[in-house]
Amino acid sequence: MQKGTIGVTTDNIFPVIKKFLYSDNEIFLREVVSNAVDATQKLKTLSSVGEFKGELGEMDVRIAIDKEAGTLTVSDRGVGMTAEEIDRYINQIAFSGAEEFLEKYKNDANAIIGHFGLGFYSTFMVSKKVEIRTRSYKDGAQAVQWSCDGSPAYEMTEIDKADRGTDIVLYIDEENKEFLEPQRIETLLRKYCRFLPVPVIFGKEQEWKDGKYVDTDKDKVINDLTPAWTRKPTDLTDEDYKSFYHDMYPGADDPLFWIHLNVDYPFKLTGILYFPKIKSNLDLNRFKIQLYCNQVYVTDSVEGIVPDFLMLLQGVIDSPDIPLNVSRSYLQSDSNVKKISTYITKKVADRLQEIFNSDRKQFEEKWNDVKLFIEYGMLSDEKFNERAMKFALLRNTEDKYFTFEEYKNIIAAEQTDKDGNIIYLYATDKVAQYSYIEAATARGYDVLLMDGQLDAPYIGMLEQKLEKSRFVRVDSDILDNLIRKDNAKEVKLTAQEREAMTTVFKSQIPAIDKCDFMIMFEAMGENAAPVMITQSEYMRRMKDMAAIQPGMSFYGELPDSFNLIVNTDHALSKRVMAETDAACQERIAPLASQLNEVNAEIARLNDARKDKKDDEIPVADKEALRNAENTVADLRKQQDAVYSEFAQGNDLVKQLIDLALLSNNMLRGEELSKFVKRSFGML
Ligand code: ADP
Ligand code: MG
Repeated sequence: MQKGTIGVTTDNIFPVIKKFLYSDNEIFLREVVSNAVDATQKLKTLSSVGEFKGELGEMDVRIAIDKEAGTLTVSDRGVGMTAEEIDRYINQIAFSGAEEFLEKYKNDANAIIGHFGLGFYSTFMVSKKVEIRTRSYKDGAQAVQWSCDGSPAYEMTEIDKADRGTDIVLYIDEENKEFLEPQRIETLLRKYCRFLPVPVIFGKEQEWKDGKYVDTDKDKVINDLTPAWTRKPTDLTDEDYKSFYHDMYPGADDPLFWIHLNVDYPFKLTGILYFPKIKSNLDLNRFKIQLYCNQVYVTDSVEGIVPDFLMLLQGVIDSPDIPLNVSRSYLQSDSNVKKISTYITKKVADRLQEIFNSDRKQFEEKWNDVKLFIEYGMLSDEKFNERAMKFALLRNTEDKYFTFEEYKNIIAAEQTDKDGNIIYLYATDKVAQYSYIEAATARGYDVLLMDGQLDAPYIGMLEQKLEKSRFVRVDSDILDNLIRKDNAKEVKLTAQEREAMTTVFKSQIPAIDKCDFMIMFEAMGENAAPVMITQSEYMRRMKDMAAIQPGMSFYGELPDSFNLIVNTDHALSKRVMAETDAACQERIAPLASQLNEVNAEIARLNDARKDKKDDEIPVADKEALRNAENTVADLRKQQDAVYSEFAQGNDLVKQLIDLALLSNNMLRGEELSKFVKRSFGML
């Protein structure tokens, strides 16, 4: 028997390993099973090059639990080890690796999140003792047993072992009894070993017999040896891709598109990424991209490896070249990882372009489902943006789809304003903005539907990318002003008329929570609506952005500001003006002439104090000015009262306002029922 100490300087690294890695201790199973798979693959290679001449025979990896003995055993029929090899690979290398690892990460708890190849020594996280019983494939090799209880001391003895290969026997410790439960082990095997390239066997297949499940003679193979991503795309049908997807994500809808990744140089990477059809946010958290290393599951947190905007995709990435035993911050600066991320972005863009080119119809049908991914990508990744500008689609309110290029050609003639800007009209709600869409299309304009979650920032981005282009929501102004072809027609109102109409209309707008109205006048022609409501594009965008950007909450709290626009050309507006004049003139005339007088007085006083310093102005003049200003305010109030009182009794004004609110979906509840009653009354 050989005794010795393993190659570490730290007295006892195992308590440290246990403490550090406790939360992720389940990965020991992945490590032991993948070592068994490695040993199996090595022997197959040796056999294929003629270095091993014996029978390979059955090459399965078997996992067995012995509850009584308290052991979990992983057995393979791979290369095995000689005593000398144990000394070299286990005593020296594995443990020095362990020490180095701990040295490096003892102050960086974040690094230790279970994505690294801890290797053989991770078994000590769950075992009070570990035995290796192994016989090398080499002719006449002596079988040996190595055993270690977690202190740096180990024992090695010669044993009898009938078969070539290795048994790793873990004596599970008190705190980790869970790993003696078949259910728990099966779950872990299905998580980490599901796609390993060598059969992994755990227990027997079961069948339903006499009212219960019983074991059959058939071994239960946990894994799929050749998962879709390891196969050639030419050997796979659409059904293969879909069924692999459903295996990975039970309960998900069919994926929209997929991308088979396969590179050899300058890094190795294979995988399949799927564009999912997202039903709910829940799926996004549940179904994530899984990262594998040579078919061994590593993690489903792929931040840093996959570009952010593609984190919403699903599927598998398998690469031996992603450094797994490093912290996340390091990952982001690793040049291989950067290349991988760039590669994936390019592949995704290429694939989308390819589908667009070869099957435009399918692409359009799925556009609404993939749009979120693509817009997110275009907003967050410059390279992707460049590529996607060629296949990203715009959808109009008639459900037709266009590329940017196509759309520009379609609207350029009708929708270029007097300054040469192309105006992209859009709606965010086909129902609520119906009347505006209708008016714009009647004018020969086209209206886009931009109702996606990201469309507010997306529009901002497009305005930067598309030359001389502006996006204008269809209800943000009167039709003539949406795309200004020439200078606006002049509104012919006297100052007094303006004041009268402003008060008449403003006084009758029902109070609507968090909404402010400004009264404006436009000469829109006899055929346009008499009164309409618009919302400033700028303010609305600020509020839209505030909703998704925390730093801008200030805008979010402001009331919505709307414009109530009176069309001074319309017969009904003219009638309101005439009626106002007829009803109020008698009472307004004396107020107006007083106002004129006082205003003249104010002008005179202001004139007199021009170019004078404050202390040069006579006290009496200051007093007179203040009085005059108070009088003006008072007279105005009286005027307003006259107009409001008139408006209060004027159903036409109320009806015009309500109709405008109604076509904007803003007339609700009590105001709506009042409107209906008033309408009957007027009929
Ligand atoms: P790694 O797998 O990264 O090389 P490990 O710590 O997991 O590191 O294993 C250390 C070494 O121990 C392996 O490289 C291999 O030489 C040897 N080894 C471990 N398990 C087995 C096994 N089941 N059969 C043969 N050799 C093994
Ligand atoms: Mg290993």
